[in-house]
Amino acid sequence: MKKDFYEILGISKGASAEEIKKAYRKKAIQYHPDKNPGDKTAEENFKLAAEAYEVLSDPDKKARYDQYGHAAFDGAGGFGGGHMNMDDIFSQFGDIFGSAFGGGFGSGFGGGGQRRVKGSNLRIKVKLTLEDIVNGVEKKVKVKRKVQAKGVTYKTCSTCNGSGQIMRVTNTILGRMQTASTCTTCGGSGQILDSKPSGADAHGMIMEDDTVSIKIPAGVVDGMQLKVSNKGNEAPGNNSLPGDLIVAIEEIEHEFLKREGENLHYDLYISFPEAALGISKEIEAVGGKVRIKLEDGIQSGKILRLKGKGIPSLNGYGNGDLLVHVNVWTPKSLNKEQKAFFENMLHDENFKPSPQKTDKSFFEKVKDMFS
Ligand SMILES: [Zn+2]
Repeated sequence: MKKDFYEILGISKGASAEEIKKAYRKKAIQYHPDKNPGDKTAEENFKLAAEAYEVLSDPDKKARYDQYGHAAFDGAGGFGGGHMNMDDIFSQFGDIFGSAFGGGFGSGFGGGGQRRVKGSNLRIKVKLTLEDIVNGVEKKVKVKRKVQAKGVTYKTCSTCNGSGQIMRVTNTILGRMQTASTCTTCGGSGQILDSKPSGADAHGMIMEDDTVSIKIPAGVVDGMQLKVSNKGNEAPGNNSLPGDLIVAIEEIEHEFLKREGENLHYDLYISFPEAALGISKEIEAVGGKVRIKLEDGIQSGKILRLKGKGIPSLNGYGNGDLLVHVNVWTPKSLNKEQKAFFENMLHDENFKPSPQKTDKSFFEKVKDMFS
């Protein structure tokens, strides 16, 4: 029969989160392996307290435990009893102990907690045209990466015996405590250079030119960062992991099209006669020209919406639109004949503005666009 979690921590069922935390801290200090070297019962109690705290400190798990007891965590995905090892406990509850226990311990018991050293990340910028962004693109980029030289070998660091950490014993209010610091000989990797190929640096590393292919999905935005895993700098040592390549997206401004989220805007200029007579016009869109028809009598400021001719959404929910803003161009100078023509029209009824309810003002159109 498993012991009740509340009983383990010595608290009542109605205990507050703060009381639970306090009770766990007390038990953890009481049964801490550093204070009870070689004491299996203390270690067992220490683990039980950690297990109880893991459940009771999580509102969701606590609710399930309060309702179903230990049965809540039986079976797949459950939190089985005694499965927690010391490394889990220290990594999960480090905050509970505060500074009294210093950084990490762990290598004193259980073992196997050595961290894998990771190489540093590389950063590059990729410039994309609107076409690239609309269609998605695969870019090949050249990067200079730090990699392990060919033929390099590493051996266990004798300073830290491969743990990557140096243990120190210090006296604290809780008694003698072990604290760990990163081994300076191996930099925490637990390994040092064994044989160094010519040309390699003190860690057995060389710089290498590499070409990395990056798949960029359609719909990316200027300033967005993509991560290509494991394509950063490598780290020394047999067990190390390469860093990542961080790709920052930079959008090259299009000559005619302005981007606004997933929509594109295009300013179309037409002449007086074109506006009066109506006309079919070719306009610039992404991936080629599009022909649009303007009815006769079209007003300056009209916005035509070409559905789906914008930018695809990153999450795959369709495309934005291309909004064509119609501007009627007024000639800046007129010759004699033209002047005479317009002077004749000055008092013509047909040239008098008479906006209808349907001829919305600029502000109403903008309002419509965003609603
Ligand atoms: Zn070392």
